[in-house]
Amino acid sequence: MDLLSPSIPTPLQRLSNAEIDKAGVQLYIKRDDLIHPAVSGNKWRKLKYNLIEAQERGERTILTFGGAYSNHLYATAAAGNALGFKTIGMVRGLELESKDNATLQFCRAQGMQLQFVTREEYRLRHSDAYLREVAARFGNPYMIPEGGSTALALQGVAEMVLEVASQLGGMTDFIATAAGTGGTAAGILSAGADVLAFSALKGGHFLREDIQQFVTECKNPGNLTLLTDYHFGGYAKWNHELLAFMQDFRSEFGIQLEQVYTAKMFYGLFDLIQKGYFKPGTTIVAVHTGGLQGLIKT
Ligand SMILES: *Cc1c(COP(=O)(O)O)cnc(C)c1O
Repeated sequence: MDLLSPSIPTPLQRLSNAEIDKAGVQLYIKRDDLIHPAVSGNKWRKLKYNLIEAQERGERTILTFGGAYSNHLYATAAAGNALGFKTIGMVRGLELESKDNATLQFCRAQGMQLQFVTREEYRLRHSDAYLREVAARFGNPYMIPEGGSTALALQGVAEMVLEVASQLGGMTDFIATAAGTGGTAAGILSAGADVLAFSALKGGHFLREDIQQFVTECKNPGNLTLLTDYHFGGYAKWNHELLAFMQDFRSEFGIQLEQVYTAKMFYGLFDLIQKGYFKPGTTIVAVHTGGLQGLIKT
């Protein structure tokens, strides 16, 4: 189904420079940032089957959760608007009610109803009792968890892996992705590929268990390597070294990254390549998961 007219398959491009060649690895970038202008990257992949299910069930309202700069809220607002769903966003942090930002303004402009909740309440977002209460409060909407990470999301992400395999004419040794909730990494594992997951958050060790949890039902998942040292101080934190890296990447390859997820992943990946982490002959596909709407203006 051509949900929201995506540009699929997204291009797979080879990246090479002196350092990559010296390490003897083959590096590719999967341009999921080009899928859709508003529902970009992994958010389109993760939302696809959730939205199809909501349509099939005849749901009218979609409720989901996110932080102030959430690409998932942004994508859900745009997709909901285009597909004729009413959307409700449960936003972490009461203080945002009076302190809007571009992401939240976009969500509002797409017709999303924003419901600001305290950090204490937001922490309950996975609790069954809380979700029942929220469902009752908002008239039983179709609920999608934070980041859109559900079993249906894994199915959508797995399709990206199949695309890569057919574009490469075989399996790659690793697929690298940035990780926030770990749903994307889990989706790639569910397709049987080995994953390098770069945590965009500080203290990302918890992701291992969350990701394993997502794939418990899957047959023959791939192996997970979790990298937790490339968070640059924590979620949405950055420094000038990271921005300089983004600029270099853009002048070298003509591809724009953003500072929350994809720049951290590529920074980490290039660091590993330089340190000789990969055996010569290794093939790595790094996913550009999109998120360019959140690109910092400098
Ligand atoms: C949301 C997001 C991620 C993280 O995806 P998870 O499935 O939550 O781990 C990575 N990259 C970008 C650009 C994102 O917007």
